Amino acid sequence: MAPDIMGDAPYNDPSDEPTSTDGGAVMPLVLVVEDDRRMRKYLRATLADQRFRVVDAETGGEALVQAQGHNPDLIVLDFGLPDIDGIHVTTKLREWTPAPILMISARDEEYDKVAALDAGANDYLTKPFGTGELLARIRVWLRHTQRATSDSLDSNLEVGDLRIDFSRRLAFVGEREVRLTPTQYKLFGTLMRNAGKVLTHEQILFTVWGPAYTKETQYLRVYMGQLRQKFEQDPARPRYLITEPGVGYRLRTT
Ligand code: CA
Repeated sequence: MAPDIMGDAPYNDPSDEPTSTDGGAVMPLVLVVEDDRRMRKYLRATLADQRFRVVDAETGGEALVQAQGHNPDLIVLDFGLPDIDGIHVTTKLREWTPAPILMISARDEEYDKVAALDAGANDYLTKPFGTGELLARIRVWLRHTQRATSDSLDSNLEVGDLRIDFSRRLAFVGEREVRLTPTQYKLFGTLMRNAGKVLTHEQILFTVWGPAYTKETQYLRVYMGQLRQKFEQDPARPRYLITEPGVGYRLRTT
């Protein structure tokens, strides 16, 4: 009788499975970086339960090695690690991988969130967080990556009722065309290209106005107000153009 090799399948090493680049049938690979053993086990179990492939790391150094070795589709990264902190790990990862980085942290300081996002993290969750929220954010980021790949062929972006046509420089709410000034268009385009992602004031000012304007948050506030007037049904209670207090803005996708 043949030995039951499936029973011995290495739980911790999906590297010999097919990669996710072909077919689309293979589940995304998530790298979990967390030094707290119980938290790491919980994250592994939760993700495996959703049939994600999972690799993990306990330290920042190990995270960089695992990321290089496995090229994960998404990284869940603890802020406080025993060797190098999550910000530094993010900076190192961003030198070569565009994979979404979801930072998790026990610290709820705006300063930490801004630093994580500025370093290149895509999102930030404060512990303790609900399993449902973690999984929802992971799904958003994986969808976003897939959309970004297909968008390189397509110059239209859609988020809910909002649409932008980059080739014709047009913006829409539903069927209605929205007339925008060049700066409004650039700001709207930046938010649409980063839909779902928290953008810091500095990131937006840098992208839309340029490096000399990264402190001019008042400009941004004025222009966000204008976009809300043009795109939101109720500008005072925006559905899409969301303020992230003390951090920046997010174009909400759900
Ligand atoms: Ca930790």
